[in-house]
Amino acid sequence: MCSDSVRYIDTAEFTRLGSTISGQAVLAGFARFCEGLPPQPQDVVSWSLKGWRTTGGQSFLEVSITAKPVLQCQRCLEPFEYEVSVVNRVELVNRESDLEDEDDDENALERILGSRRFDVLSFIEDELILAVPYVPRHEVCPGGVSLVQSEEPVVQEKRPSPFSALAQLKQNR
Ligand SMILES: [Zn+2]
Repeated sequence: MCSDSVRYIDTAEFTRLGSTISGQAVLAGFARFCEGLPPQPQDVVSWSLKGWRTTGGQSFLEVSITAKPVLQCQRCLEPFEYEVSVVNRVELVNRESDLEDEDDDENALERILGSRRFDVLSFIEDELILAVPYVPRHEVCPGGVSLVQSEEPVVQEKRPSPFSALAQLKQNR
């Protein structure tokens, strides 16, 4: 499958037409995602992207991603396969100033900048980065490693932008 043919979309057209595209990409080809991770298997990321526009003129993208990246357990340090299966929606905006809407609505969708040359695979990679935990761990480590309970409080935080997620990934290395 050649996902190069849909590497870029015009988001205005894509959402106006209510288009859908899908593809597969080699996991190891996502360099930003793979940074700091164990070697990835010869596996693919399957993705699809759907766009639509409301009668009120708002444009949205829905992205679905399935992948099985290998992460390193931060408790026993063994690599393990982590199953990613996510569906996420974002709102497309036209101006950078629209990204910084300060409404604190918990249900507000993440906003991203639309483009006539929107990089689909880069967007998929951002979403993939968000889909894996910052501190991956086995639910139960194999090999009888004594389980130290996490001291981190389990708080569901608002999703950070891919950029802060990246910064965090870098800090964690
Ligand atoms: Zn483990």
